[in-house]
Amino acid sequence: MKIRLLPEYPYLYEAHLHTNTGSACGNNTGAEMMKACKEYGYTGAFVTDHNWGGNTAIDRSLPWEEWMRRYAEGYYDAKRFGDENNMDVFFGMETGFKGTEFLIYGLTPEWFVAHPEFKTATIEQQLEIVHSGGGIVSQAHPYRVEDYIPEVRLFPEYADAIETANATHSSVYSKAHNDPSWDDLARELAAKYDKRVTAGSDVHSVNMLGGGMAFRHRLASAAEFCAAVLNDEDYILSDGRYWRKKSGEIIEEIY
Ligand SMILES: [Zn+2]
Ligand SMILES: [Zn+2]
Repeated sequence: MKIRLLPEYPYLYEAHLHTNTGSACGNNTGAEMMKACKEYGYTGAFVTDHNWGGNTAIDRSLPWEEWMRRYAEGYYDAKRFGDENNMDVFFGMETGFKGTEFLIYGLTPEWFVAHPEFKTATIEQQLEIVHSGGGIVSQAHPYRVEDYIPEVRLFPEYADAIETANATHSSVYSKAHNDPSWDDLARELAAKYDKRVTAGSDVHSVNMLGGGMAFRHRLASAAEFCAAVLNDEDYILSDGRYWRKKSGEIIEEIY
């Protein structure tokens, strides 16, 4: 199975991906995930495993540096595969606050090791700390409600962007959390607060869902990704079912 890319936007990046190294709900290693991404047609991905506030696979009682080192192993494994196979693999993190989740882009494991204050940051402090390191924050699937997300809590003022396309909600291949209307609401939220937008699959296994962000040019770094989002550069989104403009307008069906 391979995604049909639009010729003007040939560089597709998965911006929401889990490994079984960092996430208790992950099913595959970073290398296995990247191999599947490669075959599917992605140029690269952010590894965004669950942190201590979410479904992490790493013992929360470990000292900070040791915790971060083990947590980042899924990313390093993915990165090795990426380096050997002409893919761009970037470090990310999915942070959790009583079920409300955010995606952090643009920071490195080394940066986190040097900033232990992040461990106890509130949602409000999170944005400030991430900005101080040059990263950005996107609120993940803000309207998803499940057992592990007891209530919808919105923090547009404490996020640079909103994840307005989550392929877990929309892909016909998704086996959980299927409700595309959550993305419709997320788009309304982003528009109302004039927020930037991100998209990803929230993929937890090698069964690809096809979500992500497609660019006109290849991204040289995570910093370039952050700049593209913040500067409202020209890119399109996939929710696993449709190619969409950032506004949400459908360009065409993917399958
Ligand atoms: Zn998960
Ligand atoms: Zn996730």
